[in-house]
Amino acid sequence: MIKNIHLKIVLLLACILAVHGVYAKSFVAIEDVKVRAEKDSKSALLGKLKKGTIIDVEPIDDTWGKVTYKGKTGYVTSEYFDEPPPSENATESTAVPPAGKKELSENDKKLMMFIGGVIVFLIVIKRVLHYRSEMTDRRKKAAEYEKETAYQPKFWYQCKHCWVTVRRESAPNSEGCFNAPDHHWFELAEYGKTRYLCKKCSTVLNVRSEPATADCKGGELHFWEKLPA
Ligand SMILES: [Zn+2]
Ligand SMILES: [Zn+2]
Repeated sequence: MIKNIHLKIVLLLACILAVHGVYAKSFVAIEDVKVRAEKDSKSALLGKLKKGTIIDVEPIDDTWGKVTYKGKTGYVTSEYFDEPPPSENATESTAVPPAGKKELSENDKKLMMFIGGVIVFLIVIKRVLHYRSEMTDRRKKAAEYEKETAYQPKFWYQCKHCWVTVRRESAPNSEGCFNAPDHHWFELAEYGKTRYLCKKCSTVLNVRSEPATADCKGGELHFWEKLPA
């Protein structure tokens, strides 16, 4: 989803730039041209464009055009301009420094800063979303692990014939006892954190409460003693 938004915004920005680029057009000075501070031939003189200079001129009215001259907005009378020949080899560009053919106007700078801001914002949003999804994954895994480890069979069973002790959710299969035709399971206790020892047969169990006094391998019944934690 975030990728889609990203793409849309980039496309939008590209459109803005394209539209922006259309409205100033390159012209060539056919005479030396004075650059004025205002749209007025009596206003301050910012400088002079030499004959042959190619520069972007944004037409304002029949007489005046707007240019960016040495980083400042200037005005020129458009009668001294012609469109440059397609080959552009007649250029003796002097007033315009090589990198400065597109010297950025204030508006351009603001636009660039805005675009930069949007891109940084998108990157940050993307990071945040990524981080959040990673955290959710981690939490899920932890929960799953807990669930798995929390699952423990609940009850202790002991066979009265072979004295095998097992932990199961419910009474195990009775077949296969080596001392009798079938195991004879007896539920001793529920699984828990307290330890009990039978002093007669040495069976040790982790239980919730004292195990039942069922038949013991050591004779008669188990004799349970609580072990220190
Ligand atoms: Zn058995
Ligand atoms: Zn016992």
